[in-house]
Amino acid sequence: MQTPPRVLTVAGSDSGGGAGIQADLKTMLALGVHGMSVIAAVTAQNSVGVQGYWELPAEAVRQQFRSVVDDIGVDAIKTGMLASAELVETVAGLLADAEVPVVVDPVGVSKHGDPLLAAEAVDTVRTRLLPVATVVTPNLYEVEQLTGVKVTGESTMREAAEAVLAFGPKWALIKGGHLEGEAADLLFDGRREHWFRAERHDNRHTHGTGCTLASAVASFLAMGNEPPQAVAAAKEYITGAIRGGFPLGAGIGPVDHGW
Ligand code: PLP
Repeated sequence: MQTPPRVLTVAGSDSGGGAGIQADLKTMLALGVHGMSVIAAVTAQNSVGVQGYWELPAEAVRQQFRSVVDDIGVDAIKTGMLASAELVETVAGLLADAEVPVVVDPVGVSKHGDPLLAAEAVDTVRTRLLPVATVVTPNLYEVEQLTGVKVTGESTMREAAEAVLAFGPKWALIKGGHLEGEAADLLFDGRREHWFRAERHDNRHTHGTGCTLASAVASFLAMGNEPPQAVAAAKEYITGAIRGGFPLGAGIGPVDHGW
């Protein structure tokens, strides 16, 4: 028996099963890696929004991380919802010594407009979390929140990537999915631009897309791929997952992992 690549998500729980830790673990299962979780916050959430959330104590986050890393070990780490400045700081400190690729999904606000990160934590994300990232995966709202750059089209995505890279991650993946037309993403390390394009699927059931993409990137990195190859494979995965997104509850349903 061979041990599969080991991937750890440090993120928030979505009680509705569509995003967060639940989307991360489903993605990891679908891609054949061993998924593990450090839960930073618990949301009460369904298809119509986030009704509430509770952070875990920093010590609980630290201990979960140590328990996993000290025995099982990890081949890649993904971070998602970290809720507060204290937890962002705690997780950034734990990641500073990690010798494996780290994918940071700088989660700020849900699709329904519910905040998942305290306003005063944004600066901690910029100055503490982004510098330890191998790949950071902001959507256009998160780019604007982090850098002030307002992306209006593909021509401004390069400027956005440069502004994100100024905080110190190795790669910035700017997700253009909220623009009109083709879904184009730009991966940039300050030298070469890698564009990833997919036909737009007219499906409103897209809850969990950001978590799923970042987890897929982490999974492909854990398998030994370089970021451009990992992002290409992850883009293929998320495109299939969006195509299969299905209605659930009264609001926005989740992307699908069973295709
Ligand atoms: N809930 C949790 C715990 C999340 O981490 C996220 C996004 O990262 C969301 C909800 C929001 O998901 P979406 O914006 O895809 O609806």
